[in-house]
Amino acid sequence: MNRQLKKISIITPFYNEESGADEFFERIVPHLLSLKTSYEIICVNDGSRDKTIEKLVFHHKKNPNVKIVDFSRNFGKEAAVSAGLEYATGDVVIPIDSDLQDPPELIPTLIEKWKEGYDVVTAKRSSRQGESFLKKFTAKHFYRVIRYMSEVEIPVDVGDFRLMDKKVVKALSTMKEKNRFLKGMFAWVGFKQIDVEYERHARFKGSSKWNYWKLWNFALDGILMFSTMPLKIWSYFGFFVSFSAFVYLIYRIIRVIFKGVDVPGYDSTLVIILFLGGIQLIGIGVLGEYIARIFIEVKGRPIYIAKETIGFNEKVTHSSNKRGN
Ligand code: UDP
Ligand code: MG
Repeated sequence: MNRQLKKISIITPFYNEESGADEFFERIVPHLLSLKTSYEIICVNDGSRDKTIEKLVFHHKKNPNVKIVDFSRNFGKEAAVSAGLEYATGDVVIPIDSDLQDPPELIPTLIEKWKEGYDVVTAKRSSRQGESFLKKFTAKHFYRVIRYMSEVEIPVDVGDFRLMDKKVVKALSTMKEKNRFLKGMFAWVGFKQIDVEYERHARFKGSSKWNYWKLWNFALDGILMFSTMPLKIWSYFGFFVSFSAFVYLIYRIIRVIFKGVDVPGYDSTLVIILFLGGIQLIGIGVLGEYIARIFIEVKGRPIYIAKETIGFNEKVTHSSNKRGN
């Protein structure tokens, strides 16, 4: 199969990235020009508090292929990429980080694979540079835990940097959930996939926008939106605890029959009550996590609010701002 590429859409979220924005365009534009097709770079300004928007407007004036969706506040990277997917009109769509951690040099390789007939070409990290041991460790295990628990197969060590055919993007637009865990959603839609390896470099400028609390919540979204195991596991655990308690009860009765009543064990009673109290609280907590997400879904709020869009002349439909289908 040899597909004809007419237009390529790049999606880039920007959150307080004024220091690296110039280099980003400097590095990516030559690669896009080398492909000799029309292109657009959809920059989503995710409520930056620095001068990111001024930088983006400057680059838009220089190069009208740079288009801007300006959020009314910070909605998070997942919302930013979701917005970009809605506005993208290319035959292929590539989300890429604005901090140059995803190398633009890989774009021609991704396109080659697409031309061979693959609908999704994921970029797999063979190494991560400039990240702390703890970040690497947590990232590595996160991907493995989620793979084990999730109902769909989420590829290991693959971020959002990937190429998607426009039919994949269309399929994604039918997923209306508000808790957006894109890695899971990308896996859920399926299609013909292949991966190419790359080395993840250190951030070019600025600092990572994630802290461990944000990452923890991100991981929870990933697990809870793509697995019901945490809800179900408690019945098995409860059964196990109750069964053990029953066996222990039989043992105590037999002991009383043969040896009589000994000193009442306050300690063991206390331990058992506290242990089971803790287990029950965890169970309730798990229910709470799911209910909180159901609550967010039923409110049906849009995923983001764009206060302004710059550079789009084609008509785009804003599916996420509508309810239901
Ligand atoms: N980002 C965003 N909104 C946020 C946090 C991050 O749009 O609330 C963007 C950020 O500008 C960058 C990308 O998401 O382009 C990845 O963020 P970062 O480099 O901080 O994450 P890391 O690479 O450390 O996982
Ligand atoms: Mg980064």
